[in-house]
Amino acid sequence: MEKVIYPMAEGKCRICGSSAQVMRITEFNLKVCLPCYPRFFERRVRRALEKYDMIGEGDRVLVALSGGKDSAALLFALKRLSASMGFDLLATHFHLNMGDFSDRNLALVEEQASKAGVDLRVVRIGELGLRVAKVKGWKPCAVCGAIKRALMNREARASGANVLATAHTLEDMLLFAFKNLLSRRHYLPPPVLDPIGDLPKKVKPIMFTSERHTLQYCLLRDIPHFPEKCPVWSPKGHSLKEVFETLEKTVPSGKLQLLLSLMEIMPPREEYMWRPTGACPSCGEPTSQPLCPICQLSEWFASQREKERA
Ligand code: SF4
Ligand code: ZN
Repeated sequence: MEKVIYPMAEGKCRICGSSAQVMRITEFNLKVCLPCYPRFFERRVRRALEKYDMIGEGDRVLVALSGGKDSAALLFALKRLSASMGFDLLATHFHLNMGDFSDRNLALVEEQASKAGVDLRVVRIGELGLRVAKVKGWKPCAVCGAIKRALMNREARASGANVLATAHTLEDMLLFAFKNLLSRRHYLPPPVLDPIGDLPKKVKPIMFTSERHTLQYCLLRDIPHFPEKCPVWSPKGHSLKEVFETLEKTVPSGKLQLLLSLMEIMPPREEYMWRPTGACPSCGEPTSQPLCPICQLSEWFASQREKERA
């Protein structure tokens, strides 16, 4: 793969001031030379961490690592910032029980964690009696999302992490906001969700960073990333992203400005925030239902297996 995805031009690098071949970062109308780009990316991440008070000295931060470019870029950027900012970093990955695909995915994630020098905790959902499938009225991606959200909380607690960092990008945030707007649900999750009880603080350090940036960072820092799409992935759920790309082509920096505007007009609303109401009687995890999502789903899959055997 080409190492540079931004258009190149002669010019002066905004970071080091040297005249050289520079990338035109169209999102910010700014020029950066290739050696400076990774530092430019890390500076942007650091600015988000500091501006929103996401991570501080002495924190223990868990990154949910899928293997894709976004979470890989987040892990490596945080690793570089961890020494100067004084926080600990570890990663978790969920093996989604999708046969060879999940095995290849895990192998790549192990390579990433080892290259970053970060401890990795792996959870195999198959060992919890779970898989990604349609469950009652829920589509597989909704089931997968529920499993991952619950496991992230569980893993943060089990690893002693007080901060959970997820790799939601600018495009993910816009997609989420637009889906909500289109169903007249005026809610956009904030950059930081404060800890509730035993649940960790949740932060989104690259929510102002586009996916082109994360890919460019991975390419220039030689960060391996998993190139395959999940077998369940469908372009339909992501086609709104094309609207944002068209916006960006028409109005440079349009995606970021749109997100910042939406944050102003859609402040966090309590009624849309998940709050546990007690502990799951089966496993003790926080839940707002009679059973936590993991226990509900594993009971459902167990009953399906019973029916199949009968
Ligand atoms: Fe999970 Fe795959 Fe759906 Fe992503 S595309 S939410 S990994 S099932
Ligand atoms: Zn439970």
